[in-house]
Order: sequence, then structure tokens, then C-alpha cells
Amino acid sequence: MLRGVRGFVFDLDGCVWNGRVLSPGAGETLAALDRAGRALAFLTNNSRATGEEIRRRLHALGVPAARHCLTPLEIIGEVIARRFGPSRVLVVGAAELAGAVARAGHELVDVKDYRRATVVAVGNDFELTYERLTAASRAAAAGAPLVTPNVDPRLPQEDGEFLPGCGALVAAVAVAAGVRPLVVGKPEAPLFRMALERMGLEPATAAMVGDSVAADVRGARGVGMRAVLYAPDGGTSGEADVVVRSFGELAALAGLA
Ligand SMILES: [Mg+2]
Repeated sequence: MLRGVRGFVFDLDGCVWNGRVLSPGAGETLAALDRAGRALAFLTNNSRATGEEIRRRLHALGVPAARHCLTPLEIIGEVIARRFGPSRVLVVGAAELAGAVARAGHELVDVKDYRRATVVAVGNDFELTYERLTAASRAAAAGAPLVTPNVDPRLPQEDGEFLPGCGALVAAVAVAAGVRPLVVGKPEAPLFRMALERMGLEPATAAMVGDSVAADVRGARGVGMRAVLYAPDGGTSGEADVVVRSFGELAALAGLA
């Protein structure tokens, strides 16, 4: 049922890799898809990594076919440019987010000059102050669109603890301003659309493969792609077009085995 699919978009965490290792069979299946002329793209909601960092990590793990790697950070500046044109952006977030916005050609607005902002971008901000929260809220309330890499509620820590995630900060600003954020990451459309564009494919000719029904399956279906749920532990979903237990099974469905 995946024989006619011309390109595959893969989720990373819990799908292509777990922590620092590839999932069983992932390397072989990705290489075989590439040899068979299928386009490949990789998406993660990780909003602190750039596409280049993800590409390097995949190459180091033995996936030389990784060319199109997209993260919310990678595309947020482009999303702002397409939706709102060259903008004056108030960034409440890490230096990586400010850098990504600036690289896309936008002007960064100082927190004291929040009234000049035409867009507010909110990400994980470990130096959040009430002043920054106020500036972002006022700028958004005054009409500057609120844009965010993702709305993940928590940032998991290695010891099992968590930090409040990007979504928690965005919610504070959105509630104070009385607006809804434009979300770049999954399951919203921008990451999927950009991946299709990089592969040069229409949604109906491509399939998304991921382990999350909420982020990957729903997100893919929302833009008209086929959705493959990767469920090695036996989960299932009526929302996916197909459920696979392994990368070997995916290769067989794609007509490679
Ligand atoms: Mg995942």
C-alpha cells in the first residue's frame, strides 16, 4: 500500500532514533528507500536544534541519505517571512531562536522597544523575567502575531524531572494578550508543508512515518499526506492509514523487500 509513495517524511524521536541510537533496521530501510529513488525528509519538534545539527547527527549514525532535516527553529524565520513579510520581531527565548529569526532577515526588537514589534516569537526562555513576559504580552495584545516553535507543555530532563516547556510560556502570553499563537511545529502544518516543498512533492504522493498519533499521524493527515504509525510496542490507531511494527515491515510495504 506504500508502493506508489514517492517520498517519506520521518519523525526522529521514538521513530528513527531513540536517544543516541537508531531504531532496529532504520539504517537499512532508509538506505534502501534512498537507493530506490524515494525522497526522504526528517522532522523533529525539538526546537533547540537546527536542521544542520540534525543532519550531522544522522550522518554520524550512518544515515548519509539525510539531506532534508527540518526543525521548528530551522523554519520559523521563513514562516514569519512568508506570512508577515520582513518583520520587526520581539524574541522571548533562547539565543538560538533569536539567531534563527535574524538569519531569515528580520530585525530583532529590544524588549524595551516592544511597541515597535510587528511579530512576537516565544520559545524556551531560561532567563524569563516579568519584564519580558509583559513586553511580549503587550506587543501581542497590540496586534503583533504571536509565533512559537512548539506548544510542548514540558521540557523533559534526563533525571526524570521537567522544566516548564515552550507551551507554558506561550500560554501565559496568549492568555494575557487574548490571542492564539501560530505554531510552527507538529501537528500544525508548517513543518510538514516545508518538508514536502523541499522534497518537491505533493502531499498525496508522500507518507509521514512517526510514533505519535497526536503529532505525526494527525499532523500528516491534516495536510493531506498518508500517515504511517510506527508502533514497535504493539500500539495501534484507527487514524493512521497503516501501522507498522518495524522498519523491515515498512520496507516490505514500500515494495523494497
Ligand atoms: Mg516521535
